[in-house]
This record gives sequence, structure tokens and C-alpha cells, in this order.
Amino acid sequence: MTDTAIRRIVIVGGGTAGWMAAAPLAQRLGRRCQVSLIESPEIGTIGVGEATLPTIRFYNDALGLDPADFVRKTQASFKLGIEFKDWGHVGNRFFHGFGDFGVRFAGQAPHMAWLRLAREFDRMPALDDWSMAAVMARQNRFLPPHGAQPGVTDAYSYGYHFDAGLYANYLRDYAMARGASRIEGTITGVEQHPETGFVTAVVLNDGRRVEGELFVDCSGFRGLLIEGTLRAGYEDWSGWLPCNSALAVPSARVEPVTPYTRSTAQGAGWTWRIPLQHRTGNGHVYSDAFTSDRQARDDLLAGLDGAALDEPRQLRFVTGRRRKSWVKNVVALGLSAGFVEPLESTSIHLIETGVGKLIELFPDRDFRPELADEYNRVMGGRYESVRDFIVMHYKLTQRDDTPFWRHCAAMPIPDSLAHQIELFRETGRVTILDPDGFAEPSFVAMLLGLGVVPKRYCPFVDALDLRQLHGHFAGLREMIARAAAQAPDHGAYLAGAAKGVKPQRVTA
Ligand code: FAD
Repeated sequence: MTDTAIRRIVIVGGGTAGWMAAAPLAQRLGRRCQVSLIESPEIGTIGVGEATLPTIRFYNDALGLDPADFVRKTQASFKLGIEFKDWGHVGNRFFHGFGDFGVRFAGQAPHMAWLRLAREFDRMPALDDWSMAAVMARQNRFLPPHGAQPGVTDAYSYGYHFDAGLYANYLRDYAMARGASRIEGTITGVEQHPETGFVTAVVLNDGRRVEGELFVDCSGFRGLLIEGTLRAGYEDWSGWLPCNSALAVPSARVEPVTPYTRSTAQGAGWTWRIPLQHRTGNGHVYSDAFTSDRQARDDLLAGLDGAALDEPRQLRFVTGRRRKSWVKNVVALGLSAGFVEPLESTSIHLIETGVGKLIELFPDRDFRPELADEYNRVMGGRYESVRDFIVMHYKLTQRDDTPFWRHCAAMPIPDSLAHQIELFRETGRVTILDPDGFAEPSFVAMLLGLGVVPKRYCPFVDALDLRQLHGHFAGLREMIARAAAQAPDHGAYLAGAAKGVKPQRVTA
């Protein structure tokens, strides 16, 4: 290490973000740099981040976590995607699976060929039938993709549902075993360098001072350092993302434990259902301008499929992001950096990305501003691409049964999203604004699921022999159906996974 190397990192906050930052920093810096995490016994954590994207596996793998140990200690279940119910119109049901619809065909994305077949053949099955993730989810089956020789029955991925509190504890033990220290106390003061404005120390309510060189602000919505001290500013997206409230409640486990999240559109928002091993997580995300807290609570409790295990917990939020999440020597992660809303389980994913970028652009005590600029450029783009994807879910509604949905259908949307929707409607194509964000099949699943049927498809597809194409597609569908039917029941797979049992694969 150079003599300008950072030797003291202070992480403010011990929620999911704080411990997700502490674990890889302690792992990489070991005892060469003191990593301290401060958490307040008086200020709780949000603790409701339970559904993830497949990238959580890369984060876990980078830490070297044993998947069986992780599944056991966090009461995790597997997640193949999200089932959307009553989105678009009441009675609608479709699946946003992790992965593609089979494989590319004659150089084209699978949906292009499907669009031609759907036009030429009556009763063409839904595109979901070519998604291994969707077909397995429908039958409550689960098997990880093969990986070695990816083919049509392996073109999918998976994430996890887990207990966020247990995950934070798991990472805490990991980080502390690698030298991180935990300080209990509530920060009541922040000291800054008189000339540079850099944060030099935080002061706890019992008078203790904790000095540092790099501060990672994981203090939740309040953004104690990034906003409270450094006034980074907040870009408010509530004009595009109308929900601002949530109620969360756990319920008793019911069988089967499904390998997917369910999102059901409601009159003024939506409800989630996230199955874990020991319980089910439920919540209602809504706009308090269109329904009362009382009504939202009643709607949530009425939709539970097991007994409520607690009183619903109320949460409020303003969707948006910090204008800059790295300012001077403070980097904000998690809710202190922004919150898009939980519809596509992207918050933990954005924490993974933020921690990864911080490690990639790790500063020394010179804190070159170019590093902060680059971090802010990349993270700004990531938040915006997630925002567009989620705004699309609301905007593309055909529902006019409540004032909330009429508001969503009429609201203005970001230009970038308007371009994407029209491009798909006219030509079936998807613009990928963010190569590390949601990929083409995710946009296709949501756009088709919400009722946008492209007027055209790629002309290259017309060069293919129609009968052959149809036969080929029918064959692929059968292969997927056969492979999915041979996958184990999710509950059985989960029980084995927690014991570290690797199932035998059956070739379809
Ligand atoms: P918090 O959990 O709020 O933690 C803040 C920490 O800062 C606490 O430890 C607190 O003690 C500490 N702190 C604050 N002030 C002080 C102080 N003055 N002194 C000392 N310590 C202090 N994400 C997903 O990926 N998937 C989901 O399914 C999902 N669902 C969600 C549903 C809802 C309704 C909401 C609101 C969020 C959801 N999220 C989800 C987001 C997810 O919950 C958060 O990204 C995640 O929990 C990270 O929170 P955090 O650690 O940033 O903040």
C-alpha cells in the first residue's frame, strides 16, 4: 500500500447496505485498513428487502459464501422471476422470468421469430412457453441452469428471496471475522475539515468520536452525511413513480413455497408476496393520494394466504436519487443514495453495484475528484435505467377502473422511456440503455405482458421458411416442457440445497 492509502473506513448504518459494504471491504482490505461500522440501537433498519435479482449470486460468490450455508442461515428460497397479476388489465397474468425465451434464432432474438409465428398461426402459445424460468415457475419446480453448455433449456437464471435481517447478520459475522468492528451508538454530530469540507469524524450521543478517512453513508432514507452534512441534493421522481407508502407484514408459511415473487396490482398500487422457508413476506406499496392507510391495510390483510404473524409496519418514501452519491470523502449506498421502489427488487442489486463500483474506483487519501465524477456518472445511469423500467410497468396500464390507474395512464414519462416504448410498438426492437441493467428479454416480457404488440418484426425473419420455423419452435417448446417437468419440486430442491445436496440432472 502507498503512504496515501486509506487506513480508516467508517460505515454509517448497519442495515442491509451497511453490512453489504462492510463484508467485501473487510475481505479485501483485511487488517491493513480499519473498517468500522456504526449502528444505532435507537434507529431501526428498514429490513424489508427480501427479493433479489440473479446478480446477488455474483456478490455472494465474490465473498466466497457457501450457497448451502447461505440458504440455511438466511431462510432463503429460490427466485425464477416475478408473476404479475392484474397488471395491464384486471385478470391479466404473465411472468417476468430471469433469462431468455430459448436461444437466438438465425441471429435474431427469439421474440422476433415468435412475432412472425403469432401473426401467421392462430392459437400460437404465449411467448412464456419458451421461457424455462416461466415454465418451471408455473409448476413450482426448480433446478439451477446447467451452465457448462448453455442450450435452450438452460437459458435462464435465478436469484433468491431471503430474510433481510438474517442476511445482514450473516454478513456482519463474515465482516467481523475479517477484522471489521461494530460500534453501537447514535451519531449526533459530524466534524468537517475547516478548509476542504471533508468529513473527519462523527460524534456519538455518549460523546465518543469516530475518526475516518473514507465514510460510507448507509444511514437509510435520512442520508445523514451525504445530505445532512454535504447537501448532495435529491432528484424527486414521484411525478413518474406515484407510490410513496408501504405496509409490510409477515404471514405463516403456506405450501407450496413458490420459486417466484408475486406482484398483484391493486386499486392504488400493488401488493407483493415473497415466500421464504419459515414465513411469507407480504406488503402493499401504494400512493396515499389515492387510498387511505386504513384501506391499504385492509386490502393487504385480505389478500394474505396465511395467518398474519405481526401488525403491518408502515413505511413512507420519496422515490428518486441523490444528485451525487459520492461527494468529497463520503459515498452513499442503499437508501441514502436513492430509492426507485421495490417493484422489481432492484435496491439490493443497486447496493451490489455501488459497492462493486466503489471497490473498482477505490480512492487513496488524495480523493481525486475524477473518481467521484466517474462513480456518479455510472451510478446515475444505473438508477435512471432502473427507473425507466419500473415507470413502464405503471404507464402501460389499460386499467381505467380507479383514479390511480387513470393517473398512471395519463402521466408524462421520461423521454428515454417514451422512445423505448414506441420503438418496440413500431418495430419489436429494444434499446439497451444500460448493458448492466435489465436486458432485452426483460423488456420483451414486460412490454408484451402489458399488452404492447409490435406492429412489425425484423425483416430478416421473413427470409426463413415458415413451416420449418414453426416446426423448430414447436420442438423447442416441447424440449422446455419436458425439461421443466423433470426438474424437482422447489420445496424438495430447497430442502436438499440447505443440506448441500446436489441433484442429479436429467437430460431432456
Ligand atoms: P436502513 O435499513 O434504513 O438502515 C439504516 C441504518 O442506519 C440503521 O442501522 C440505522 O441504525 C443507521 N442509522 C441511521 N441514522 C443513524 C444515526 N444517527 N446514528 C447511527 N446510526 C444511524 N430491496 C430489494 O432489493 N428487494 C426488495 O424486495 C425490497 N423491498 C422493499 C420494500 C419496501 C417497502 C421498501 C421501503 C424497501 C424495499 N427494498 C427492497 C429496499 C431495501 O429494504 C433497502 O435497500 C435495504 O434494506 C437497505 O437499507 P439501508 O441499509 O440503506 O437502510
